[in-house]
Amino acid sequence: MRDTLKHQGKRNQLLELIASKGIRDKSVLAAIGAVPRHLFMDSGFEDHAYQDKAFPIAAGQTISQPYTVAYQTELLQVKPGDKILEIGTGSGYQTAVLLRLKAKVYTVERQLSLYKKTSLFFKKMGYRPKRYVFGDGYKGLPEDAPFDGILVTAGAPRIPKPLLSQLRVGGRLVIPVGEEEQTMMLITRTSEKEFQRRECGSFRFVPLLEDKN
Ligand code: SAH
Repeated sequence: MRDTLKHQGKRNQLLELIASKGIRDKSVLAAIGAVPRHLFMDSGFEDHAYQDKAFPIAAGQTISQPYTVAYQTELLQVKPGDKILEIGTGSGYQTAVLLRLKAKVYTVERQLSLYKKTSLFFKKMGYRPKRYVFGDGYKGLPEDAPFDGILVTAGAPRIPKPLLSQLRVGGRLVIPVGEEEQTMMLITRTSEKEFQRRECGSFRFVPLLEDKN
């Protein structure tokens, strides 16, 4: 599959739609407009790629809805050169949006089959996260902390403490918290010991799974 004018046309329509739903950040819209979402899905599903919907990918997981990707990215306020940790690489679509914003991206996935598949895809497409780790996102990536931003792309029953401690002062954590339905939380580290919390609407994600060991 390739990226064609037809795909670009559909992406422009998608941009109008997510802008009408409230996404204002021009750099985020430009990134969504530039990343060929259909290439992150199995071939044959490209007709679904530019609908504003989540879609099944491998291993029972989903590629997040474009509006949700845009919304979480907007909350993160990414600046070029920022160090961003993503938990839940999945298809790699959100990773590619962050790379497009010139972030240094560290991303973690816990499903081995998906990790391997997306790893090959990143190589084929020339997407270069700083690190792509097979592991448990509940632990974050202590060896690469602190981060300017941390983005969790699965529904977390609770806020993992390591993620809070791996934020730099001034850094932001964007995380959907809850079981069935999640509340999007924006947590800003305002000092070494203080965090400011803001609730930013309801969403539905696949669960952030905890390893039982
Ligand atoms: N950002 C992805 C969204 C994928 S859905 C995209 O744009 O396609 C959420 C992903 O989180 C799934 O791939 C799932 O396997 C992964 N996940 C779930 N629990 C996890 C954990 N504890 N650590 C890391 N990844 C996890």
